[in-house]
Amino acid sequence: MSDLPDEKRLSRGRPWSLVALLIFLLALMADLAWHIAPELLERRHYQLALDLPSPVELASLPMATRFDFPIGTEHGTLAYNAQPFTTNSHLGDDLNGIGGENSDLGDPVFAVADGRVLFAREGGPGWGKIVIVLHAYRENGLRNYVQSYYAHLETILVRPGELLRRGQQIGTVGTGGGKYLAHLHFEMREFVTPFVGAGYRKETRGWLNPEEFLRAHRGAPDEDVGRPQVE
Ligand SMILES: [Zn+2]
Repeated sequence: MSDLPDEKRLSRGRPWSLVALLIFLLALMADLAWHIAPELLERRHYQLALDLPSPVELASLPMATRFDFPIGTEHGTLAYNAQPFTTNSHLGDDLNGIGGENSDLGDPVFAVADGRVLFAREGGPGWGKIVIVLHAYRENGLRNYVQSYYAHLETILVRPGELLRRGQQIGTVGTGGGKYLAHLHFEMREFVTPFVGAGYRKETRGWLNPEEFLRAHRGAPDEDVGRPQVE
């Protein structure tokens, strides 16, 4: 311990803590700029997709009364989950046709519920084409919002702003631009703003377990077949 009176010790320490604080703030700003810049620069080109939905748009969203699985049958059969949520810090489910390998390439991908397309375009390296749909649904008497997120698509059949019905085809299963064996990377998110983000992260706050969410919000008996089966 130092023998210096408290006051002296403090004044001695202060310049260093100020420098440390300055370095920290500079690093923080540089880091923020580094991460936000791509979104800000792209914003001009894709304004519609990246805009925050207005309160009117949110209020006008149709209420989704039930949720279906996005590929295979609406009950989740004829599809399997090759990399479930949180496995290897995965933020979604990797859904495949039961034929394996590339047998599901070009298979239809369906909107899991009524909603509005927020985002439909190329998502960048590793992502391929992405569609993000915003849904309103009721839980415990409250109106909630949830996003369904479909990635690695081969084709996109919908446009930002378009209203979708449950079971409507939004695109086809792809390989993320030839990067993977064909599969659908599928996420459910609690955000209302559309963004691409990362496919893997330890911190999962804001992300839901997709398969669990769909099973909990089926709102339909399992024998109720509402859409054509995939061959
Ligand atoms: Zn994935």
